[in-house]
Amino acid sequence: MAALCVMIPLVSCSLNQGRTVLDAVRAPASGAWPDWRDCRSTYGDPTEMVDGKARANPDWEKANLVMVRLPWRAHAAWDHSLTIRSLQVHRLAAPSLQRALAAVWLRAGQSQAEIDRLGLSLIGGGYNWRPVRNGAQLSAHAYGCAVDFDPDRNALGDARPNFAAPENRYVIDAFRREGWLWGGNWPTPDGMHFQATQVTDGVTAF
Ligand SMILES: [Zn+2]
Repeated sequence: MAALCVMIPLVSCSLNQGRTVLDAVRAPASGAWPDWRDCRSTYGDPTEMVDGKARANPDWEKANLVMVRLPWRAHAAWDHSLTIRSLQVHRLAAPSLQRALAAVWLRAGQSQAEIDRLGLSLIGGGYNWRPVRNGAQLSAHAYGCAVDFDPDRNALGDARPNFAAPENRYVIDAFRREGWLWGGNWPTPDGMHFQATQVTDGVTAF
C-alpha cells in the first residue's frame, strides 16, 4: 500500500542514526518542549542498508504494518479518484488510531458530510518510508506511527491550519486522548500530521 504515501518520492538519504521528525522539532531555550523519544525505540528500525544505501526493510514491514479501516468514505488527497479504505500503520499504533477514528466518527454524528467538512476524507498518507519533508531525518511516517489528513488546508508551515479552527478542534482532541500528537502547533507547523508517540498528554499547548 505504498500508494497511500506518494506525496514525496522515495529518495536515498543520509540517515542520521534513527533520528526522526521528532528530532527535527527544536526545543526552545525555555525548555517548554518535551524531551521527545526516538520513535525507533518503540517501533523498531524500519531501515535496511543495501550496497551502502538506506531503504525500507521489507521484513520489518511484514512483521509490523497493519491496516486500520476508516469508518468513513475517503480518497487520496492527491488523486480524488483513488479510494482509500484503510490507513497503514504500525501494529502498536493501530489500536489507538482505531479508537481515535471511532471517537471522531461518533462526534461527527456518523455524518459523511461532516467528515468531508473536516477534511478527514482527504488522506495525505500513513506509513511511508521517507525522510521528513524539510530535512534528511527519517519521518515518523517511516515508522508507521503517523497519518496525514487534508494536506491542502493544513500545509506544512501553515501557522493557521484548518484543524485549528474551533469547530474542528475535536479532531485534535480525539487523537490527543489516545496519546497522539498533532503537528499543527510545532515550531514548524505540520497541521495535517498526527503521530503516536510516547509523550504523555498535556505537553502540547494549543
Ligand atoms: Zn505527516
